[in-house]
Amino acid sequence: MQRYRSAAALIKARRPEKPVLALRPHAAGRAARWFRQNFDGDIAYAYKANSSVFLIGALYGAGIRHFDVASLPEIEDAATIPDAELHFMHPVKARGAIRRAYELGVRSFSLDGEDELEKILQETDGARDLKLFVRVAVPAINSLIPLEHKFGIAGEPATKLLIETRQAAAKFGLTFHVGSQTTTPDAFVMALKAVRDLIVQAGVVIDVLDVGGGFPSRYANSEPAPMEDFMAAINTGVEALPARENIRLMCEPGRSLVSEAESLIVHVDARRGQNLFINDGAYGTLFDAAHLGFVFPARLVSPHVEADAPLGAFELWGPTCDSIDHMPGPFLLPDCISEGDYIEIGGVGAYGRALAGHFNGYGTYEEAILMDEPQLSMYAADGSGSHDAVRHLRT
Ligand SMILES: *Cc1c(COP(=O)(O)O)cnc(C)c1O
Repeated sequence: MQRYRSAAALIKARRPEKPVLALRPHAAGRAARWFRQNFDGDIAYAYKANSSVFLIGALYGAGIRHFDVASLPEIEDAATIPDAELHFMHPVKARGAIRRAYELGVRSFSLDGEDELEKILQETDGARDLKLFVRVAVPAINSLIPLEHKFGIAGEPATKLLIETRQAAAKFGLTFHVGSQTTTPDAFVMALKAVRDLIVQAGVVIDVLDVGGGFPSRYANSEPAPMEDFMAAINTGVEALPARENIRLMCEPGRSLVSEAESLIVHVDARRGQNLFINDGAYGTLFDAAHLGFVFPARLVSPHVEADAPLGAFELWGPTCDSIDHMPGPFLLPDCISEGDYIEIGGVGAYGRALAGHFNGYGTYEEAILMDEPQLSMYAADGSGSHDAVRHLRT
């Protein structure tokens, strides 16, 4: 794969006709090293966020050996990673997927009901070497994508399930997910309180606590609390758990390990007023910008960039014939932008390429590696993210 110093160098050399997925593996490596230094437990990368081998390789190089997987194809893929420990954390699994996962060496499974516990025990022929996690329902606070409606158990039924699962498991744990892009640590505080109450009520001993994912990234319209605050809240909550010294911690970050590690470079096919028609969109890498209100950092990459160019607010329209292929933003770009220019849209590493389809014949990309810094970072040297999102590039 070709490497470039920046999006400007790439465009100068290639004038790409297709949208470009521009990877920054170094940014994924930096995020993984940050977690390794600041989280006192196993870090399982949530595979669904982005399965590019370049990013998986960077995470692996930074010492990531655990992977959170949710389907059989993900498991078959991740099972080829040397020394990887896979955790099948989807609370509702097909019987065949459980059986095949066990054959492939997976021992770690999550569940949120007695029916699923029974399925797991039947399909593994009553295995005695299982690591079973009960998924607890927790309130989603300040998260952009709530995940608590679909999975998780609470109250009296949870107490019963904890006791039954404890009896069946070689290693027994609890797991939760506070919701994706959770911008303040209070969600973890509340979740760990709920976990503590449940453990006390059920009177069980847990071996593992998986605090899930949900750790935030920076976007043009989302400035989360510093990552240190999340780790501090988790530490405080975990210290209050009964028999803390016997509990091994795990987390499952997806977004926060890879979002900074990929940009999308698009071509402006038309400008109509403050509307820019570009060659990727809602059915491609920009689903979250169209449907979930994400405003990714955008910068102009063009020969006519002026350092002090006045900015305008733009909406983006994707290439398909569908009018919901629309990213309202607003995206702040130099007012001089015109047809023929390119835009680097940063921060699409998580749930970008992973969600892209082929509607209308689009959805094929060129790929390259960039060596410069991402537009926005949670992990910059000064801890605050030192990169300027509106620094436009001259080709
Ligand atoms: C999606 C998912 C994750 C990753 O979530 P992020 O918000 O990307 O960190 C972790 N665990 C489970 C069970 C998930 O479904």
